[in-house]
Amino acid sequence: MSVNLLDYDAAGLAGLMAQYGEKPFRAKQLMKWIHQRGEPDFEAMTDIAKSFRQKLVLDAAVTPPALMAEQIAKDGTRKWLLDVGTGNGVEAVFIPEDDRGTLCVSSQVGCALDCGFCSTARQGFNRNLSTAEIIGQLWWANRRMSLDASRLGDAGLADNRNGDTRIVSNVVMMGMGEPLANYDNVVAAMKLMLDDNAYGLSRRRVTLSTSGIVPAIDRLREDCPVALAVSLHAPNDRIRDDIVPINKKYPLHQLLAACTRYLEKAPRDFITFEYVMLDGINDSVENARELVSLVRDVPCKFNLIPFNPFPNSGYKRSQRDAIMRFRDILINAGYVATVRKTRGDDIDAACGQLAGQVLDKTRRAEKRLAGDAQVIIFQPQNGDL
Ligand code: SAH
Repeated sequence: MSVNLLDYDAAGLAGLMAQYGEKPFRAKQLMKWIHQRGEPDFEAMTDIAKSFRQKLVLDAAVTPPALMAEQIAKDGTRKWLLDVGTGNGVEAVFIPEDDRGTLCVSSQVGCALDCGFCSTARQGFNRNLSTAEIIGQLWWANRRMSLDASRLGDAGLADNRNGDTRIVSNVVMMGMGEPLANYDNVVAAMKLMLDDNAYGLSRRRVTLSTSGIVPAIDRLREDCPVALAVSLHAPNDRIRDDIVPINKKYPLHQLLAACTRYLEKAPRDFITFEYVMLDGINDSVENARELVSLVRDVPCKFNLIPFNPFPNSGYKRSQRDAIMRFRDILINAGYVATVRKTRGDDIDAACGQLAGQVLDKTRRAEKRLAGDAQVIIFQPQNGDL
């Protein structure tokens, strides 16, 4: 079976070159072709010896997930549906802004956690994405965007950069899935995002968002300390147990301690706490005050996310006044607090609206229909955590 070179980070590719009896610099050359130029065809890699190219053609391939659909929202947000085989699809979303272009990347087919306000959770869970399927989202986004840029004559972007097709400036691991539950593949993909021979993003421009898998937060600090966002969503364990069920396993005092540890070696960094605004659930003045005292030991900013509705969610978005009041309490307590703009909601590309195509192995949807409100507690399967 041929190896997919998109599955390898720098260390993995260097190991593969050693197996071929090739020098380590071949790994760098390959990475530049594959990731900077978006080139999948070995024959086009002209600075690589022909004899080695022929070996690669026989044994290896650069195989991103197939593109199934592309949608473009009124505000320019783009959503891609990628085929990851056996009837499953995942989504990636590109959000253009004046000063940056952010790609929201998925890490799993569905999600094994069961946050009630998230439509990905409703889809159930099928499997972890491979490194190739994760980095393949960035590979595709750059390729599609640079194609458009050159077609539109946007200063001939692709040409001017000497074949460099990298356009995405920021990545957020905020698509479908819980990235820290797919630790090894997500870290390998993020290492490629940071690698100068691949996408060359600074570690502050790559953000991983987690629902709070405490042991994996500690590992991440050692292995790949990118910017960390934490889906807090509640000011106390009572509310969080209910809306983010992983909290029963890793309650708030453990989660906040892990956040503090994460910043120990990077005193100028901060955690971004995400807080979905749910009408009548977590949006009162009292909730805001409790939140302020909860996080007092953690250098942090807040990102309030107005709830994005989906059919039969059972939740409502907080009133605008309630969101502003909540934000002002945080600001008056000395915090930076922003309200996330809803982007791409006309194509279901907004936070919590990504559903892709998931063949659910947990049979969660069936259980829900049967009125069986069983909570599926997350169980790491590969002994990773
Ligand atoms: N599993 C990770 C990554 C998902 S990131 C995590 O939980 O952090 C997506 C962000 O959008 C998370 O903060 C998630 O809680 C939030 N979200 C989920 N559903 C939402 C919805 N319907 N409306 C607004 N935000 C939502």
